[in-house]
Amino acid sequence: MSTDAEEASEDRRKYEFRKVLEELEEYEGSGTQLVTIYIPEDRQISDVVAHVTQEHSEAANIKSKQTRTNVQDALTSIKDRLRYYDTYPPENGMVIFSGAIDAGGGQTDMITRTLESPPDPVESFRYHCDSDFLIEPLEHMMADSGLFGLIVLDRREANVGWLKGKRVEPVKSASSLVPGKQRKGGQSAQRFARLRLEAIDNFYQEVAEMADDLMVPKRHELDGILVGGPSPTKDEFLDGDYLHHELQDKVLGKFDVAYTDESGLYDLVDAGQEALADQELVEDKEQMEVFFENLHTGNEATYGLVPTRENLVMGSVDRLLLSEDLTEDVVVYECPNGHTEYETVERRHNTSDHECSECGEPAEVQEREDVVDHLMQIADQRGTETKFISTDFEKGEQLLNAFGGIAGILRYETGV
Ligand SMILES: [Zn+2]
Repeated sequence: MSTDAEEASEDRRKYEFRKVLEELEEYEGSGTQLVTIYIPEDRQISDVVAHVTQEHSEAANIKSKQTRTNVQDALTSIKDRLRYYDTYPPENGMVIFSGAIDAGGGQTDMITRTLESPPDPVESFRYHCDSDFLIEPLEHMMADSGLFGLIVLDRREANVGWLKGKRVEPVKSASSLVPGKQRKGGQSAQRFARLRLEAIDNFYQEVAEMADDLMVPKRHELDGILVGGPSPTKDEFLDGDYLHHELQDKVLGKFDVAYTDESGLYDLVDAGQEALADQELVEDKEQMEVFFENLHTGNEATYGLVPTRENLVMGSVDRLLLSEDLTEDVVVYECPNGHTEYETVERRHNTSDHECSECGEPAEVQEREDVVDHLMQIADQRGTETKFISTDFEKGEQLLNAFGGIAGILRYETGV
């Protein structure tokens, strides 16, 4: 798979995750009866089954018969799901949600959902039984999943590490032998200054090597690098081109931080928040710029469900742009005279009646499905790339609010 294709399927998976999380967030159990299990990738499935079996027998002590039955049903359902897996869970682990949710009017519905391979690894095994599902750790992962290199240094010590999603990961540190500013008696001032500069230069080289070793192998996945420290150290370090040139090109900015130990890496992420947020949106912004330019200067742009769909089917769409916050289904209607029409409806709303706009006859519902699935399926068949666009910037918000969250950059003018 090409990097673009990987990125698209990554985006797609994030979309699917977000959809399930939104659904789960709505649910409530009438008692402490909704079970969530987080399973890291190195946890044997047989261990998990043993744990679930144990919880099942302990649940026999729950006083309320209703809650007891619901918890045990949820655990049984989880055990059934676990049968689909071999020795270990898939890469990055998985999360299973199961329980009897409140369906209104004293009724409950039993639901079970499995999310495999989240964007970040599941870090520890968690068994959680409560009146709602435990979704925060997953939401945290969804917030973003960029990879950034972090370097903090002064003349005495340096630390390098990663920012993975929201998680700071210190990796290596170094300390220098740069002498202080006070020279010892008997040394000539000139010689002392020269030795000191040499020592500083050596230390910068050492820090650069440490960063190169860590980050050069990952340079193609890297979204950027932040450098922090007091002035003028970080400036000298960057101006001196100590870093590998491909890393140097990835530096998003330099920031004042007071500490250069591991805690300095966290300070650096705080200080660089704005640069990080901008960077994450760079690609989305570029897509929307192209869309608006095409829209204003010619006809190589399309938006809204029906025209975009028609262009997709023709194969004229180069890039399909879908808002990350699009929460609609598409309903396909057909009238007695064979006219097919498409309409979007909010995911949680009911399907409404429809009159054919061509002949005025009442039309029948043929199909209802997630509009993203519907459009991406056509896009995949036509070799159209799909891009999910954040609503965290003005034009991204416009895509959702002014264009219904659906647009396309065309390969050529179609007049549709
Ligand atoms: Zn009709």
